[in-house]
Amino acid sequence: PTSIMWFRQDLRVKDNPALNAACDLGKIVPVYILDTSSPENRKPGGASKWWLHQSLQSLNERLNGHLQVFKGDPNTLLPDLMNAFGAEHIVWNRCYEPWQINRDKALKSALSDQGYKVQSYNGSLLWEPMTISKGDGGAYKVYTPYYRKGCLKATEPRFPKVPPARITYADVNNQGQGIDALSLMPDINWYDTIDATWTPGEEGAATRLQRFIEDAAKQYKDDRDIPSVEGTSRLSAHLHFGEMSPNQIWYAIKDAFGNTDDKSIDTFLSELGWREFSYYLLYHFPTIPNKNFNDKFNDFPWRSSKSDLTAWQQGKTGIPIVDAGMRQLWQTGYMHNRIRMVAGSFLVKNLLIDWREGEKWFWDCLVDADLASNSASWQWVAGSGADAAPYFRIFNPVLQGEKFDKEGHYVREFCPELSKLPNKYIHKPWEAPEDILNKAQVSLGDNYPSPLVDLKATRRRALDAFDSIKG
Ligand code: FAD
Repeated sequence: PTSIMWFRQDLRVKDNPALNAACDLGKIVPVYILDTSSPENRKPGGASKWWLHQSLQSLNERLNGHLQVFKGDPNTLLPDLMNAFGAEHIVWNRCYEPWQINRDKALKSALSDQGYKVQSYNGSLLWEPMTISKGDGGAYKVYTPYYRKGCLKATEPRFPKVPPARITYADVNNQGQGIDALSLMPDINWYDTIDATWTPGEEGAATRLQRFIEDAAKQYKDDRDIPSVEGTSRLSAHLHFGEMSPNQIWYAIKDAFGNTDDKSIDTFLSELGWREFSYYLLYHFPTIPNKNFNDKFNDFPWRSSKSDLTAWQQGKTGIPIVDAGMRQLWQTGYMHNRIRMVAGSFLVKNLLIDWREGEKWFWDCLVDADLASNSASWQWVAGSGADAAPYFRIFNPVLQGEKFDKEGHYVREFCPELSKLPNKYIHKPWEAPEDILNKAQVSLGDNYPSPLVDLKATRRRALDAFDSIKG
């Protein structure tokens, strides 16, 4: 029998449960559909599209050019393709965005009604959200008990599958439009640095993981907060597109370091746990991408300032660590986690701009833009989320810079106009005496912005705004 293997966010051959199942059944037709039925604001952003283009090319190579690529609505396309290919089965790995769940449910029922066999698998989570609940049957809202009591005490994550010994392709014409016809690549080339930074695809993911295990994993706990050091795995985009499963990472780490209680290893695995928690929240509370988890925040007096938002987006706030982060994002499609928190907090608390504006910008610019992780993290930063940082804990970006970028390497890399400033002033150039600024060729308000806001006054303003909704 012939099966359609519908690739979605599982763009890999190894440890792909649906692909394995299809190969066990017989011949396959591998299909990818750029889904035009997705909600307008959830279509992939610019950086994601760039990644997806490369990732599909890489997958197509792995499948010896057999990937059939379409653009359209799977609800209408798939029944036609089943018919055209003479397929009896269709298999896929599950997706968890609310609109994807609805789409898949409808498709499963429509295709089954037409007599096709439809089977779905878990290919991208260690613990699927529906398998973890509190003692009383409800959903966890706090990370630590979710992870330590819910997940770690549940069944062990599935062990990675051995790849199919052989993939037999059905002898059918390629009816797809091809990857280029998806028009994922931008017309203007803004992606040179992104291109130089990343290698999308299954092999690129494997190389990253290996590098992390050899060079960084053991120091993860100490280095993960230092943005100038490659102290984290940088696997997030590979995970988002499913070029590697979390199971492969989980067991590769256990394999390399044994079941040690090494703090670095435990911390790293628990970061994978945060990814799981984000998916868990999205599944059980599907409005988190749009609505405050804590509805007290519905009355929060957000400011609307187009010019402040633009300054933040462009990395021109005059606060070096924030600007460095926003420029790293623009140039590389990535921002270090610590700096995501600092830049996010600056937007939401010092500028008092709604977290949804930040979420939208990250959605467009991040190569790892992921509905679950992005919305849960933004709500965490804003203080409106499940198990969020308390609103009144407001990051001071100068102190954060001085603590995690002590010698200013990160700021110097992304704000080169400040590179000659001594360490003492690198995170607060507005405090530097005139002669030091002159010597470093920094002219505030000219070649580097004066601070957009007063940090102390805006901290106070944020606390007052919070007081207004507390009762
Ligand atoms: P590592 O430190 O090597 O962690 C390993 C993996 O664990 C990551 O690849 C990621 O899949 C997962 N992970 C780590 N931290 C988190 C976290 N806090 N929440 C969820 N998963 C996590 N991550 C995304 O994948 N997509 C997003 O769109 C996204 N948006 C974010 C927005 C904000 C405002 C903040 C504060 C964080 C966001 N994160 C997002 C989480 C985190 O910043 C990134 O996952 C991490 O920086 C990716 O780098 P890494 O792969 O080197 O991480």
